[in-house]
Amino acid sequence: MVVKPKVRGFICTTSHPEGCRAEVKAQIDYVKSKPRTDGAKKVLVIGASMGYGLASRITAAFSGGAATIGVIFDKQGDEKRTASSGWYNTAAFEEFAAAEGLYAKTVNGDAYSEAVKNQVIDMIKKDLGKIDMVIYSLAAPRRTDKDGTVYTSVLKTTGGDYTNKTIDLKTRQLSEVTVTAATDEEIRHTVKVMGGEDWKDWIKALKAADALDDGAVTVAYSYIGPSLTHSIYFDGSIGRAKAHLHKTADEINTEFDGVNAYVSVNKALVTQSSAAIPVVPLYISILYKIMKKKGNHEGCIEQMYRLFNEKLFGGDVPLDSEGRIRMDDWEMREDIQKEVSDAWNKISNDNINEYADIDGYWDDFYKLFGFGAVGVDYDAETETIAEIPSLS
Ligand code: NAD
Repeated sequence: MVVKPKVRGFICTTSHPEGCRAEVKAQIDYVKSKPRTDGAKKVLVIGASMGYGLASRITAAFSGGAATIGVIFDKQGDEKRTASSGWYNTAAFEEFAAAEGLYAKTVNGDAYSEAVKNQVIDMIKKDLGKIDMVIYSLAAPRRTDKDGTVYTSVLKTTGGDYTNKTIDLKTRQLSEVTVTAATDEEIRHTVKVMGGEDWKDWIKALKAADALDDGAVTVAYSYIGPSLTHSIYFDGSIGRAKAHLHKTADEINTEFDGVNAYVSVNKALVTQSSAAIPVVPLYISILYKIMKKKGNHEGCIEQMYRLFNEKLFGGDVPLDSEGRIRMDDWEMREDIQKEVSDAWNKISNDNINEYADIDGYWDDFYKLFGFGAVGVDYDAETETIAEIPSLS
């Protein structure tokens, strides 16, 4: 069928197979244009089909030559419906990996479940023996626990109501949004979904199965951001979950011999998850404008290449005073945040394009679903059923 974008709120319900393939290829070409990374050789990526997880898998494989196992939670397409973009991304990733003789297998299922953990461990034991790196890059709205209880995460404050500017990206109009406070129960649920418990469960299960090399590295991703977004992020319900993730890194380091756990604080970028957070898309649009002007804007692949090549495997791992890797180092630079804050105060519906890169936001948003890739004919019929070789 001919596939066009269908945007509903902050998601797109269609995705383009050839566009996704082209985006994956562009990320692979990027890391291959840079010096190689002498790093981990057998890598598990949990949340590997989009955003930071996909970029991590691409960097591990195509910059480091690693064998990769990816855990994804995606849907195949049929004659009437496209697959999820993560499905197409993974199909393309495996195709390109096979062409270079790189081992790449995928498990499609709920990463929180014991069944998926066992399936991955069986795969490691059979194919790789042990692994030397685990990337934890899940961004999920809910989690079903062992006893069947469903926990749902919320994006709310932890204080009172909070009102600030936001943008309706469709109409490109600014308005005010009020974010309400999460209840204790909602905070507990958010920590359960996006905190570190499941990360630790993975490490515990891998260690118990003797599937981790001595000196294995594990990294989970976090965000801090400027005070401008603290009420909704850093001090909000999601921030509580991230605080738990940071605490979990310390626990993993103390409780599991031979495992080095890190939290990498990454840059704010357009992904399916960040698009859902109130206030943040306007912040990202302003940030993009400023960082592009200064020539230091990065997307997921540039961030993850720099993380692997310079921070994780470039010698001693540089850490901040609280033991975290700071990939948001350029975003948080004083000159950049000063300009963001000035722009935030001045922006209005009359000057929005002067201060915010709304086109850049939309370009990145559409690219998440495979739209806007160079060289793809979006008016042509396309096959919506794509095979992920290791799943068929
Ligand atoms: P994303 O939505 O692009 O990717 C999330 C991935 O998790 C997808 O591959 C999805 O399929 C997978 N996933 C979700 N639920 C799953 C489940 N139950 N089982 C298996 N896989 C599942 O998100 P992202 O923005 O790349 O976020 C990844 C991590 O990076 C998160 O921890 C996020 O907080 C963090 N982070 C994001 C930003 C940002 O601005 N986007 C900034 C800093 C840190």
